[in-house]
Amino acid sequence: MITAMGDVMRRAYERGWITTRDGNVSLRRKGSDIFYVTPSGWRKTIIHPEHMIKIKLVPAGIVIMNDHAKPSGELEMHSKLQRYHKKTRAIVHLHPTNILAAMYAGWDLQDLADEFPEVSRYTKVGPSVPVLPVTSFELAVATFDAMTEENTNRIKYDIVGQANHGVCAIGPNPWDAYEHIERLEHICEIVLKSGKKVSNSS
Ligand SMILES: [Zn+2]
Repeated sequence: MITAMGDVMRRAYERGWITTRDGNVSLRRKGSDIFYVTPSGWRKTIIHPEHMIKIKLVPAGIVIMNDHAKPSGELEMHSKLQRYHKKTRAIVHLHPTNILAAMYAGWDLQDLADEFPEVSRYTKVGPSVPVLPVTSFELAVATFDAMTEENTNRIKYDIVGQANHGVCAIGPNPWDAYEHIERLEHICEIVLKSGKKVSNSS
């Protein structure tokens, strides 16, 4: 499954959903207090299991277990989302073109998902996060809050948009998280191609 972390990033690059060094992914296995995350600034076309950074979750925060490279700049987002659940989970952060374009044009991703059964049947879309600085603590907190249930910290959605930046998706493995992104990306492309504009009446 750690191999799939790199495979997903290569596919995302091929599809134009990240530039070479963008995007990041993490994976935590059921029952383990360790998670793996992609290194910062690494070319995603040549990322493999031995490059992943091992992070231990401890009550006070995190401990970086290997230091051959710096962990992803979005480490805070990954560690917050990986901390509370008990199952095997992968978190994928990409910059998918049509989802970002749709948000930029004013579309609400939750409203769009409701209109298209291919998304609403399989993917729970959460509220989008506003424009916040890349790799910031604020972005990590806002993404966590959008993705989880208040008070319980339970993961509530499969994907949330991050305005002018990207998406964060979660699944039982990297490919399942990728599929949530792919589904939402597909309907956003359809909506943009339709030429319909966001109505201001609602
Ligand atoms: Zn990003």
